[in-house]
Amino acid sequence: MKQKLIAGNWKLNGSLAQNQALVQGILAGMPVQACRVAVCVPAPYLAQVGQLVQDSGLDLGAQDVSAHEQGAYTGEVSAAMLNDFGVRYAIVGHSERRQYHAETDELVAQKAQRALAAGMTPIVCVGETLAQREAGQTEEVVKRQLAAVIHLNGHCISEIAVAYEPVWAIGTGKTATPEQAQQVHAVLRAQLRAATPHPERVAILYGGSMNAGNAASLLAMPDIDGGLIGGAALKIADFLTIIQAGTAAS
Ligand code: PEP
Repeated sequence: MKQKLIAGNWKLNGSLAQNQALVQGILAGMPVQACRVAVCVPAPYLAQVGQLVQDSGLDLGAQDVSAHEQGAYTGEVSAAMLNDFGVRYAIVGHSERRQYHAETDELVAQKAQRALAAGMTPIVCVGETLAQREAGQTEEVVKRQLAAVIHLNGHCISEIAVAYEPVWAIGTGKTATPEQAQQVHAVLRAQLRAATPHPERVAILYGGSMNAGNAASLLAMPDIDGGLIGGAALKIADFLTIIQAGTAAS
């Protein structure tokens, strides 16, 4: 069985002092033979956190990457810049970026392409809103979102990770049941199987109010390869419990 991947998404949180305490606490409590673990931090803190996690079992991630290589794109951060700081994972297409920054499926696919070209693993987020779920459109929505990334990236698709994040479960305390999540993960797995000869390389993470109490049951599902964790990734004890659940399930 492949190792689970537990990735924390710090979102717009942190400070130099808070980051140091959080990373040191995680490193101090992480099992020696832990599953794969990453923290996706705000861009200004990549240098700081990169130094803190150097030569540890904790990988560095970014929360976004520009679709452009370089040039007149004020505020953007390129894949090459992320590479300079040892970034291994880049979240792309988080629902907060789709919603508040009007990111389209095509833009998300371009961002994934930039990350791949720079040797990073894009964590491609897909997920339906509550209205879409209630209208029975969950499968159609997540397949359309992933299809755009597959279409642009061809066989490189085996080098991505996917995060199924139902929008209605993000930061709301409402979690998809393990069965609900597994159902969608199986759909995504089948889509990847049709797109690449190496679908087993793709980690499909669940995200949406994953916490210390529900992680083990979600991670026990056959097609849930890990978690993308927001709120609980900011609490040392909770994040460590999730890492332990990921390690036990690996
Ligand atoms: C996320 O933002 O990716 C996320 C899953 O957040 P939360 O765990 O807080 O729902």
